Amino acid sequence: MSEIEKIKCLIIGSGPAGYTAAIYAARADMKPVLYQGLQPGGQLTTTNEVENFPGYKDGVTGPEMMVELEAQAKRFETDVRPGFINKVDFNEEIHKCWADNGKEIHAETVIISTGASAKYLGLESEQHYLSTGGGVSACAVCDGFFYRGQEVVIVGAGDSACEEAHYLSKLCTKVTMLVRKDVFRASKIMAQRVAKVENIEILFNTETEEVLGDGQVVTGVKAINNKTNEKIEIPCTGFFVAIGHKPNTDVFKDFIHLDETGYIKYEQPGTSKTNVAGVFVSGDAADKNYRQAVTAAGTGCMAALDAERYLAAKEH
Ligand code: NDP
Repeated sequence: MSEIEKIKCLIIGSGPAGYTAAIYAARADMKPVLYQGLQPGGQLTTTNEVENFPGYKDGVTGPEMMVELEAQAKRFETDVRPGFINKVDFNEEIHKCWADNGKEIHAETVIISTGASAKYLGLESEQHYLSTGGGVSACAVCDGFFYRGQEVVIVGAGDSACEEAHYLSKLCTKVTMLVRKDVFRASKIMAQRVAKVENIEILFNTETEEVLGDGQVVTGVKAINNKTNEKIEIPCTGFFVAIGHKPNTDVFKDFIHLDETGYIKYEQPGTSKTNVAGVFVSGDAADKNYRQAVTAAGTGCMAALDAERYLAAKEH
């Protein structure tokens, strides 16, 4: 069995929240260890241009920004590691965490920055073409380029779906939007913007039954009108899913209080504290409202400062 590693601060996740927490924790001499998780760099690595992060006056690509944040965290000697934490035990004052390679870590403080992941419909055919890379995507900005001059279908009715449909409409000849209710959930302005675009067709009360294809690539979508039961087949080469996100918090659920949708609850609003002393949260794992790189970075800073104060209070 490998030796137990004892550290002051463990940061779980490598989006803007995790790296910002690392920069602050490292500069406070907490010698943080950061596990990058399944998607190093987080959701921003699947984004193209980021124009709203203060300080980048000409914009920056998501992947570039994450490389710079990682380098900044390493500059202050954060121990950045590939791999993920797949088990925790927060029953005692020392927080026990296990990495996927079996390593056991005992951390005085833990900062959870595990973010959120895109949701899928869960249809077998959707998952099949997702796994073949044959035309199912949850990120229009990442993958829209591959469908230039082609017809695509997008499912969802929130702000994300509207934003992505709008983005796709500039690249694709036709975008069919499948909305399961008879209304959008998106803000009025976003829904109106989509409704005005000539090559976006919106089908209300319409649900996806199956993603069609030849086994390797998508060729269409079978959908049903849930009012009339009329079935239709829509030819397309790309099927985009924009139905929201799920916070990556399953591993903590036995110890940390979550809300009904799985987001971590703040124990004390205005801080990063969870219900477990010494465990803090930052970024999208606790945020379903703002979900911005800059707010994630801000809460990463808060978590590191709260962790530092927790350690200082323990030592005195
Ligand atoms: P939302 O949770 O707001 O919307 C999800 C949408 O997906 C809903 O319309 C929902 O339908 C639909 N949906 C869920 N499950 C299914 C299913 N199985 N089949 C078909 N449709 C389904 O998620 P978003 O990602 O759009 O937005 C999340 C948050 O981020 C929101 O607060 C949003 O305002 C914000 N945001 C803001 C942006 C901006 O201002 N620029 C851009 C993007 C997001 P139903 O309505 O029927 O429940």
